[in-house]
Amino acid sequence: MESRGYVAMHAKAPLQPYKFERRELRAADIALTITFAGICHSDIHQARDEWGESIFPMVPGHEIVGIVTEVGPSVTKFKIGDRAGVGVFIDSCRICKNCLDGEQQYCLNGMTGTYNGYERDGTTVALGGYSNKFVIDQDYALKIPESLEMSGVAPLLCAGITLYSPLRHWGAGAGTKVGVIGLGGLGHMGVKFAAAMGAEVTVFSHSAEKEADAKRMGAKHFVVTKDPADFAPIKESFDLILNTVSAELDINEYLELLNLNGTLVVIGLPGKPYEVDAFSMVRLRRSLSGSMIGGLPEIQEMLEFCAVHNILSDVEVITADYINTAYDRTVASDVKYRFVIDASTF
Ligand code: NAP
Ligand code: ZN
Ligand code: ZN
Repeated sequence: MESRGYVAMHAKAPLQPYKFERRELRAADIALTITFAGICHSDIHQARDEWGESIFPMVPGHEIVGIVTEVGPSVTKFKIGDRAGVGVFIDSCRICKNCLDGEQQYCLNGMTGTYNGYERDGTTVALGGYSNKFVIDQDYALKIPESLEMSGVAPLLCAGITLYSPLRHWGAGAGTKVGVIGLGGLGHMGVKFAAAMGAEVTVFSHSAEKEADAKRMGAKHFVVTKDPADFAPIKESFDLILNTVSAELDINEYLELLNLNGTLVVIGLPGKPYEVDAFSMVRLRRSLSGSMIGGLPEIQEMLEFCAVHNILSDVEVITADYINTAYDRTVASDVKYRFVIDASTF
């Protein structure tokens, strides 16, 4: 299937227009005309090879929404004209314990990433959502509630679920104090979800001008992180802190903010190891943990939660020729709060 998109030819190259082929439909596949594709900071890390072992040419993009245009003969979940979404993985082994438990993102045989990896045949390079068309097995596509506006849904497929899942796992809700470090694409979804779940939310940001937005999204408190001395009054007070920062950060300052049994969750992936102070950990029996996106049932649950609570990502819709500028602005923390590409411009 002939497709158009944007590609990174190598780590130092700006992204450029690209024509390529996608597979013709298998029995259980659906084809989509993509309407919007979000720009996740992970796209930038990988297109610039900041994690190592990137595969080029790379078509990034794992926050995909579109309309079903074709269905294979055994498809039952979608029909032509339906809305569908695709997130960070397009397949997994389907037989390991984690897959059977609906935690496909933790597939013991490795999930199949939407791009920058090989499909399950081990040879076909997966090409992502910065494109006009997509083909995916029905089991790995999500159904999108009709009430939600599509451009604001795209970022839910990665940024949304990546914050929803740890908030649910660690029981955010009424009576809990939740901190979110970094008000970017992931962070702003975390604020909206945690507030909707009933938690008292504090945003930690190195961008003082984001305070009004954070409060509009549901944060009760906003802490500018330039001077850690400002943390003194809020020491030992949080149940859960989610670190979404894409750059290196001294996490020990944040461990000190956790109360008894509190958990700091690593979500941002700067690509360098953290240094952890043992004393910050042992006092108050604190935990340092991590979390990666979410499984298919939980993504579907999150989309329904968004429909009930009318939650969308705050997006700036761009044309394809703006992708490189959008990358630079994202790295400079100048995004309010997710760039989403209008896929009709590929
Ligand atoms: P983003 O939109 O660029 O947001 C990151 C935020 O971090 C920025 O808006 C900024 O918030 C803060 N920040 C950036 N540079 C900073 C610096 N030098 N010092 C302090 N704060 C800084 O990125 P994103 O798309 O939300 O992704 C965030 C990270 O999560 C990336 O590393 C991405 O790869 C990773 N990620 C992980 C998963 C997972 O499953 N674990 C999934 C998706 C993405 P303020 O301006 O408010 O400080
Ligand atoms: Zn992502
Ligand atoms: Zn598996």
